Amino acid sequence: MNGTRAILGAECTAVLESFAQSGVLLAFDYDGTLSPIAPTPESARLPEATKQLLVRVAAHYPMVVISGRALDDISARVANIGVRHIFGNHGLEWSGGKSRPRVRVHRWADQLREQLATLTGVFVEDKTHSLSVHYRLAPDNERTLQLILPIVRKLPDVRVICGAAAVNLLPKDGANKGVALRRALELSGCDKAIYVGDDDTDEDAFGALPPETLLGIRVGPSETSSAAYHLEAQDSIDQLLQTLIDLRTA
Ligand SMILES: [Mg+2]
Repeated sequence: MNGTRAILGAECTAVLESFAQSGVLLAFDYDGTLSPIAPTPESARLPEATKQLLVRVAAHYPMVVISGRALDDISARVANIGVRHIFGNHGLEWSGGKSRPRVRVHRWADQLREQLATLTGVFVEDKTHSLSVHYRLAPDNERTLQLILPIVRKLPDVRVICGAAAVNLLPKDGANKGVALRRALELSGCDKAIYVGDDDTDEDAFGALPPETLLGIRVGPSETSSAAYHLEAQDSIDQLLQTLIDLRTA
């Protein structure tokens, strides 16, 4: 890995064009990608301009959303856009199938609410199939993270993935965003995908397919991502969406 390249830079126009003109599926993460990161999970909103662009994108491309949020939560946030399939809980839940609730996740939640009770600004979100420990409201984010990590790593059969001011806990043997992306390709009948995501939970998707099949775009430049490309920041998403529309309407 030699670091990501700016997908909206002039030298990357050809690769974006070639994907846009193929039978491509567009797949997006939500928080930090389509929607700016907000102080609390409830307050994250899709900006109206982004929503309008997504409606136009959906008229030209098959599109899916793959989020760490619970399926009901993310479904309400991206309703009436034209998204073909929605995956929640990092791919552990999806709009085309039923999944069984995880007793293990509830147990983790009970245990952590007790163990983390003394940490200010920390709250545990039980999403039935996975769990997030949020610490954005803690007075010292880095120090709080260092207190949370040893505790969550002791849970049985847990996979710990750090996100934007949240620690995500997934069952070790479950699906992930990479599994979701491959399933979305099968469902859509597409042979290529463009996937855009902003944090380490998206790395499963960036690494899920070979580069000739997947154009991976991480929000924010990265030296270590499996994505080959990046957007400068979350607020560049509208420019990417507009470019994708232009490439199919020019
Ligand atoms: Mg995200």
